[in-house]
Amino acid sequence: MTKREEIIETGWNLESSYASLPKTFFTHLNPNPVQSPTLIILNEPVAKSLGLNMNVLQSEAGIKVLSGNETPEGVLPLAQAYAGHQFGYFNRLGDGRAMLIGEQITPQGEQVDIQLKGSGRTPYSRGGDGRAALGPMLREYIISEAMHALGIPTTRSLAVVTTGESIIRETELPGAILTRIASSHLRVGTFEYAAQFGTVDELKALANYAIKRHYPDVKEDDNRYLNLFKEVIKRQASLLAKWQLVGFIHGVMNTDNMTISGETIDYGPCAFMDAYDPATVFSSIDTKGRYAYGNQPSIAGWNLARFAETLLPLFDENQEKAVEMAQDAISNFGKLFHIHWFTGMRAKLGLFNEEKEDESLIGDLLEIMKKYRTDYTNTFLALTFDNRKDTKLFNSEEFAQWNEKWQARRGRQEESKSMSHQLMRNSNPAVIPRNHRVEEALEAAVKEGDYSVMMRLLEVLSNPYAHSPEQVNYSTLPTSTSPYRTFCGT
Ligand code: AMP
Ligand code: MG
Repeated sequence: MTKREEIIETGWNLESSYASLPKTFFTHLNPNPVQSPTLIILNEPVAKSLGLNMNVLQSEAGIKVLSGNETPEGVLPLAQAYAGHQFGYFNRLGDGRAMLIGEQITPQGEQVDIQLKGSGRTPYSRGGDGRAALGPMLREYIISEAMHALGIPTTRSLAVVTTGESIIRETELPGAILTRIASSHLRVGTFEYAAQFGTVDELKALANYAIKRHYPDVKEDDNRYLNLFKEVIKRQASLLAKWQLVGFIHGVMNTDNMTISGETIDYGPCAFMDAYDPATVFSSIDTKGRYAYGNQPSIAGWNLARFAETLLPLFDENQEKAVEMAQDAISNFGKLFHIHWFTGMRAKLGLFNEEKEDESLIGDLLEIMKKYRTDYTNTFLALTFDNRKDTKLFNSEEFAQWNEKWQARRGRQEESKSMSHQLMRNSNPAVIPRNHRVEEALEAAVKEGDYSVMMRLLEVLSNPYAHSPEQVNYSTLPTSTSPYRTFCGT
C-alpha cells in the first residue's frame, strides 16, 4: 500500500519529524512482535479526532499496528533518548519500553505523537524487559482519560491490547501495550540529555524543534530560547494549579516525567487525594514524601530550574547574564502558579471577584478540612449543593464561623446566588477516579476478564461536572481504612 492509499483506507497519516533531529536523540527500531494480540479497549472519540478508521483499527490489520507487530506505511518507529533527575539524582534514561510510531497529522492539521508503551526492549531498556502489564496500562488509560475529562492537559489513551504473553513481576501477569497519544514526548529530561551528552548545536536543534511544535509564536523573538523557557513556565504553572485543585498526586515528578508541552505524562503511581492533607503520598517508593501533594508546586519549580540549566548556553554568551535571566524567569513560576490556583479556589467557592480576605477565607477552610481529615472532593461538593452531612467538620464551631464569613462574602458580589452555585458546579467535580473504584475495575478486568466494571467507571468519569444521579454512587468513600499504596507501573 502506498502512503496515499494508507491514509485513505486506514486513516494513518504519519510523519516522522522527530527523526529529523540529530541521531543522538533516538534509535530506530524494528517492531518487537508479540504472540497473539487482542484488542481490549479502543477509544472512539480519540480515534475519530485522529482521523483513524474505527473499523480498520479493530480489524486484524489494525490490531497488528496497535501491538507493534506491524508498522503503517512510510514510517520507521524509534525509541527516544532522554535523561532525568529521578528523586533528585541524575540518570541517563530513554524509552526503555516504548516506541514512537510517528506523528499523526490529524484532520485538523495537528501533529500528535503515537507511542506504544510496553512494546519491548530498546537500547535504553537497561535491565528492564521492555514490557508492561495489563493492570497498569488500563490504569493509565482510565486516569489519563479522567484527567482529560476534568479539563486537565494530558497525554491520552487510544487503545490497550493484550499481547498473549506473560510478563514476570512479583507474579506472572498478562502483558499489554498501551497506545499513548501526546502532543509530543519532549521532556525536561530530553533537554537534560542534550545538555549532558550532546553538543550545543544538538541542544539548539532540540530547542528549535520544541519551539516549532509547541511555541511557534516565540520563533521570531529576539531571545527565542528564553521565551521558550518562559512559555513552558506558564504552561506548567497552569497545569500544577489544575492538579492541586482536583487533588491529583502525580507520584513520580522526576524531570523525565515533565513535558515541554505542559501535558501531564506518565501515570505510574499517581492517585487522587481522599482526606485533605498536604502530606499525602501514595507511592510505595516515595518514602520521604518528596512528591507529596503539598510539595508538587515547589517540585515543579525545581524541575524547571533543571530545565533552565540546560538552556543557559542558548540564553546568552555571557553565562552570568544567562543565569540572571533564568533566575528572573523562574521567580515568576510561583507567582503564576498562585494566581491560577487562587482563581480556581475562588471558583470552587463560587466567588467571581476578588477581595483581600479571600486568601485567608480559603486558607481557613483548608485548615479545618485538614484538622477534621475531611474528603477533599466531597467537601467541596457538599458546599456546592448545600448538602452537609453530619460530619465532624460541618458540626464544628470552626466551620460555623467560617460559613458565616463565606456566606457574607458571597453576598458581597454582583452575581446572584444561583450564578455562584453554577460556578461551583462547574468547578467542583462530582467524581474523580477514586482509588477503590479504579482498583475494583482493574481487578474485574485483570482477574476475571470482565471489562464491564471499567466501562461503567469510564462512562461516569467522562463527564465529571455533569452531577448526574449515577455519579453519586461513585463519590462514596472506601469502606477500608487501610492506607492506599501505589506502585510504579513497571
Ligand atoms: P517511568 O518510571 O515509567 O517513568 O520509567 C523510568 C525509566 O525506566 C524510563 O527510562 C523507562 O523507559 C524505564 N522503564 C520502565 N519500565 C521499564 C521496563 N519494564 N523495561 C525497560 N525499561 C523500563
Ligand atoms: Mg517516565
